[in-house]
Amino acid sequence: MIAICYIPVIHQGYLNFIRTCEDRGVSNIFLVDLEWLRPVEEFDYLVRKNSLHALTATDIKAALKEYTNIPITILSNETLGEMVGSTDTVLMPKEDLSTFLVEKYLGGRDIQYENIFLRWNRENLGETKEPDVLAIDLPAFITTTLHQVLVEAEKSADWWRSVGAALVKDGQLIALAHNEHMPHEQLPNVFGDPRALFKKGVNINYGTAAHAELGVIAEAARKGVSPEGGELFLTDFPCPYCARLIAKAGVKKVYFLKGYAVLEGDEFLKGEGVELVQVGL
Ligand SMILES: [Zn+2]
Repeated sequence: MIAICYIPVIHQGYLNFIRTCEDRGVSNIFLVDLEWLRPVEEFDYLVRKNSLHALTATDIKAALKEYTNIPITILSNETLGEMVGSTDTVLMPKEDLSTFLVEKYLGGRDIQYENIFLRWNRENLGETKEPDVLAIDLPAFITTTLHQVLVEAEKSADWWRSVGAALVKDGQLIALAHNEHMPHEQLPNVFGDPRALFKKGVNINYGTAAHAELGVIAEAARKGVSPEGGELFLTDFPCPYCARLIAKAGVKKVYFLKGYAVLEGDEFLKGEGVELVQVGL
């Protein structure tokens, strides 16, 4: 088995990946060099290192020698043949860059993925309560849209929580969005996530992520579609800040799958005339 990975910084998720390489008997780790990816347009956001401050593959290779004795080869045009020519099973982090490499160079190979994202699983702490809402059977359009929202949430690289949102107006899907760190999704892996310093429900506005609700309402604004009278579909009950955004935007109904209300967010929304419907799929 060989491993192929892009490692921008040393963090626990990547070290776990290296340990998995050891456990699985990986014979060689191919390390993706960002410079090698520079011509690839879809990875422009990774290559803009001025804002990302990622380490070079050479630095990462040197650092990883402290953690593993597995030989490490920096992937370049010169070493590509060695990777492509091998017939071994390939172990890769589960991320979009790996998918790109598989589609472009590794068709037909046996690929295994490992999750490298770090997610915090804190106990339920802080001032929260079950939202006081109505539960009903749903038309197919609603369940279909909520399934789309769940798929959208999977795209989020947020350490804390993956949230998906859809805005629907007059039965038409206007926008889909997930909670997304700005200006780049990878930034928490470099600088950390300020949100992770606090417990669930505490200081929830301390973060670099654009929430999914903000994403869909902003997208509607870009498209020139008023959210007034629209319906919002969410994986998670909105935070207090988004609750105010939803009310101000004139959204009339919010469908959500799970979550908790902070700062009486449910009472606030109902008071503003927004109908709340919790849905079980
Ligand atoms: Zn929010």
